[in-house]
Amino acid sequence: MHEMSIAINIVSIARKEAEKESAPSISMIELEVGKLAGVMVDSLQFCYEAACKGTLAEGSELQIIELEGQAKCMQCGNVFTIDSFMAICPKCDTYEIEIIQGKELRLKAISINEEGSSHV
Ligand SMILES: [Zn+2]
Repeated sequence: MHEMSIAINIVSIARKEAEKESAPSISMIELEVGKLAGVMVDSLQFCYEAACKGTLAEGSELQIIELEGQAKCMQCGNVFTIDSFMAICPKCDTYEIEIIQGKELRLKAISINEEGSSHV
């Protein structure tokens, strides 16, 4: 359900962009998804297709760029890869860490099909 609402959201943003450019259709959407964002990528792909049906984005491709989770230790400044929020610093065993990457859910690029080829 969560993925469906994300998919609808992405498609609606992309549609607005395409309409602004008076593009006939959308060819590809690039999305950055952090591994800690709680998004099931497979499920999102599936929902995306459904959300595109009957819109300018129908038949377009969703490119998902997965970002590793990264945290910085507040004690020693060590930066390390994490796969859950309950991570500890491997250097000094503290829980006092700051998540610096991995919670992203960001629309990175929208590719639209130009109308004709003589775009000036
Ligand atoms: Zn540390």
